[in-house]
This record gives sequence, structure tokens and C-alpha cells, in this order.
Amino acid sequence: MSEVKDLKKNLFYERTKAWDKLTDKQIEESKTINDGYKKFLDKSKTEREFVFNTIKLIEKNGYVSLKDVYLNKQPLQIGDKVYLESNEKTIALAIIGKQPLNSGINMVGAHIDSPRLDLKPLPLYEESDIAMLKTHYYGGVKKFQWVATPLAIHGVIYKANGEKVEIVIGEDEKDPIFVISDILPHLAKDQYTKKIGEAITGESLNVIIGSIPISDDDSTDKVKLTVMKLLNEKYGITEKDFINAEIEIVPAGKARDVGIDRGLIGAYAHDDRVCSYIGLKAILDAGIPNKTSILYLSDKEEIGSVGNTGAQSDFLEYFVSILTTLTSKENKDINVKDVLYNSIMLSADVNAAFDPNFKNAYEANNSTYLGRGVGIMKYTGSRGKSGASDASSQLMYKVTKLLDENQIIWQVGELGKVDQGGGGTIAKFAAKLGIEVVDVGIPLLNMHAPLELASKVDIFMTYLAFKVFIQS
Ligand code: MN
Ligand code: MN
Repeated sequence: MSEVKDLKKNLFYERTKAWDKLTDKQIEESKTINDGYKKFLDKSKTEREFVFNTIKLIEKNGYVSLKDVYLNKQPLQIGDKVYLESNEKTIALAIIGKQPLNSGINMVGAHIDSPRLDLKPLPLYEESDIAMLKTHYYGGVKKFQWVATPLAIHGVIYKANGEKVEIVIGEDEKDPIFVISDILPHLAKDQYTKKIGEAITGESLNVIIGSIPISDDDSTDKVKLTVMKLLNEKYGITEKDFINAEIEIVPAGKARDVGIDRGLIGAYAHDDRVCSYIGLKAILDAGIPNKTSILYLSDKEEIGSVGNTGAQSDFLEYFVSILTTLTSKENKDINVKDVLYNSIMLSADVNAAFDPNFKNAYEANNSTYLGRGVGIMKYTGSRGKSGASDASSQLMYKVTKLLDENQIIWQVGELGKVDQGGGGTIAKFAAKLGIEVVDVGIPLLNMHAPLELASKVDIFMTYLAFKVFIQS
């Protein structure tokens, strides 16, 4: 009998439960990491806010803008810390390692955009004495999750005089919040007969912003006028200025602990700000690495990594090419392609944790689970791996060996059952540059919902994973 037990122990693969493995010291460290994450997330609810807070944090830690370095044509030295941002919506940072750049760069690449409702260019209108804002949803949202729930307004407006106005309303306890209405169950006969994906339409995602008509005026649109008057008093804007704005409607409120044991964090936009923040924390804590390290925080992943701030853009290659030029003073023959082809990226994105309420969507053997450590996805994509960047077995070996050697709890999985759906990450766009890449990140429940759930121990293990990878 015990022989069989031994055989099993030696031959079978067992998933490890990460909470069981934490030392007392690690429990403390995990608390610090997770508390820091919640704080950062609460003030970073758009990609712009994330970039702004990233710059603030890294400048405090000795990072300087590469644009300044480049202008002064200073060569970069070992240990130098630099960053480059573009359009206030994407940013890359690097710490120069001990080895020359053509030995490759260790990169962590995540995305800082999240599903949300954007305001249309001319959003404000009034109907039945309610002033509302028209929205256009961004990314994969289940529309029915966005009605009858507290919302906040975040964004920027460029006024006629060129001044940039930043708006955040709905996060402070004293602020008002905003809401999209839903039909009461008593009158929902028509809605109940619809497919769930059609029960709330895109054009009905109109946000209530006001309800008091302006007095001493008997014209129409008196509530709309109240709203515009208040906005004008506070921000100096007129209706036309909405055209020069990027304003996002996001769930109001802070990240909260979930469960009586506080094992989970519930928050809007874990996808993918959790990997973004953890990557940031890891590179700041890693010290001077052997190989140069990059953290790349991309935009527009949720709509296909398009645009000049998305991962399909030239931005990462541009960043690497400047680093190559500025570190090549004595080593003139370093070519940016050599650097990229020798580099490795952990494409840091969340993945779908097995959900006991929806077992049928998953294949239990090949799912990631809450609390079982950092998730590794060899490939994503849909149907016959369409759209996947399938990591090589060599790279899988390299990454899993590194994690094992450092006692970091990891798990492997894929996104649900075959033919159940699917999705992608920035991995394939990094791969296109010649970078060896694999998806590594934190399993979530409720992905893309206004309240996503992540396990604190998985967040901590992912932090450790990114840190040892940067140091490797
Ligand atoms: Mn993502
Ligand atoms: Mn996503």
C-alpha cells in the first residue's frame, strides 16, 4: 500500500495550495504588497491615472524620463533607471543591467486599460426631466452588469483656451455618484423574454447626471442647463468642450477585502492593473539585475491592442531602440533586432479562475484556481488556438524551473473548455518582435465585471515570480 503511495507521490503531478506554503514572514510581506496594490488601484481608475501615478512613484525611486537623457545624449550606465511615456496612456520603464543589451532584456508586459463606458463626443441630453450622458462601451462588458450600480466619472477635457481639466467625481464619500437605470421587475415582461446579452442595449447605457431644472427659465432643456451651469462653474467648460475630452464611466468605490478571512480582493479593473502594479512593484524592488529589465504597460488591450498606445504599435520597439543606442557607445555593433530576438517577456495578464458556480465552462484539469499561485498560460486564443502565441516548451521549462528553484507556487491552465470561447493578450504582439513570450498572471473570478475577484496569495506569488524573473 505504501509502495503505491510512494509511486503516486513520485509519478503524479499535484497542484500546490499556496496559502499552506506561506511562512509568517511571507504573510507579512504579502499584506504589505496587497495593501499597496489596493491603495494604488483606488487612485488609478483610468489608464491616464495609472500612468500619472506610475511616473510619480518611479520618479521617487530614481527613474528619469528617457526624453531628458536622450536630449543630453548621455550614455546609459549599469543601474540607470529610465522611462518613456506616450500620450499619457502607455509607459515603459527600464533598469540597465550588468550585461550588455544584446544578451537580451527580461521584460514584463501588462496592460492598464480596462473595460468601461466611454462618453460619446456629444454626450449630454435631457429627456423626461432627467439629464443624461450617452456612452459607448469599451471592451468586453456584460451590459446588464452596469445598470443600477454606483458609477463614477473620470477623465480629461481640453478647454477652448488649451487648458487641461482633470475630472474625478464619485470616489469621495462626499461626492455624488451616477447611475444607469434598469426596468423594474414588475414591468420587465419584454426584457425577460430577451437573451441575456440583449436585455440591456448599448444605446440604453445612459448615465443619469442631473434632475433639477434651472429656475427662472421657461425654455426647454432646463435640467441639462443646470448640469452645464454646474460643470461650467466647477471646471470652466462648455458643452462643446466634451468634443475634446476623454471621459470614462467606471464603477464607483474602493477595492475591498472579500470574505470573512479577507483572502480575496474585490475591485474594479484587476484586469490588468493587478499585473501592472505587481510588475511595477517587482521592478522597483528587484535591485540592479544581470540583464536589463523592462516593464511595459500598454493601452488598448481590451479592444485589440490597436492605436498608437496599444501593443501593436511601434512603442516598445522604439523604447528598446533608444536604450540600444544609448548603451552602445563602446559597443557600436549592437542591433535592436538582436536585442529583441534575445529577449524574454512574461506577458503579464489575468486569467480565468475555475468558478464552482459555472463548472461547465471549464475543464477542471487545465484550469487555474484561486489560491494556487501564479498562473501560467502556455497559450490563449480561441477554437483551434486561433490567435494564440503558443509558448515553446523550452521557455515553459525555463520559467517553471526558475519558479520551482525559488519556491514560488505556480499553476498552469487554459482559458476554459475547448470551443467554449476564448481570448487573447499582448503576447502575440511581443512575439511578432521576435521576443520569446509566455502568459503569466493572476487568476480572477468575475473577469470584466464591475467587481472582479483576485486572491491575495496569488497576487503575492505573482509578485515573487516577476521579481525573480527580473533578477534572473
Ligand atoms: Mn487582460
Ligand atoms: Mn480583459
